[in-house]
Amino acid sequence: MIRAVQSDLDETSRHVGRDRLSPHVLEAMRRVPRHEFVPEDLKPHAYENRPLPIGYGQTISQPYIVALMTELLDLKPDDTVLEIGTGSGYQAAVLAECAREVYSIEIIPELAETAQSRLLRLGYRNVTVKTGDGYFGWEERAPFDAIIVTAAATHIPPPLVHQLKPGGTMVIPVGPPFMVQHLTLVKKTEDGKVSTRQLLPVAFVPLIGGKRTP
Ligand code: SAM
Repeated sequence: MIRAVQSDLDETSRHVGRDRLSPHVLEAMRRVPRHEFVPEDLKPHAYENRPLPIGYGQTISQPYIVALMTELLDLKPDDTVLEIGTGSGYQAAVLAECAREVYSIEIIPELAETAQSRLLRLGYRNVTVKTGDGYFGWEERAPFDAIIVTAAATHIPPPLVHQLKPGGTMVIPVGPPFMVQHLTLVKKTEDGKVSTRQLLPVAFVPLIGGKRTP
């Protein structure tokens, strides 16, 4: 799996500005047992470099995308991270290997509950999952050093920009649902200015939920 991830990175390095995974991301990808995060009948495919269905019309992301998004966040061991779209909990586990605290929001209650108990069973005590609409972030736990959105948004949610620390980084797929989106890197400078950079085309399941104000 790691070799396939590196091979994808070789192909996309000129778009994403990285040609190697940092040692801590590589180690996290090696440590997290992906077979624990997929349905029983798909376990033989757990270490293939592709997304897999996890029920409720949702997917566990492709390992390459998980590794790349984690890499782009430039996490430090003391960081607090917000994830939108817990799904299986796999990305949250990879983040938990690289940061101090991970907060993750999932809109489908059954997925949120399963992911939280799975993460606890696997020993991830630094991940807290809640059911909710991640578009609005997690105000009580903000601000965050890094934010990762693992579902496609039509625009960058203003509450998430607000909840990002000065100096912080967000990675988010932006574009129309069920079509190609752009993986977008959002940086907030120390004086609060926000810059965005589109890195590469991706295809994520859509961010769902209620009222949205761009
Ligand atoms: N990170 C996940 C993993 O490691 O398994 C994969 C995420 S899956 C591609 C996208 C997830 O986002 C789905 O589980 C979906 O239910 C969730 N989602 C969609 N809209 C959401 C929203 N508004 N707030 C929170 N979660 C949302």
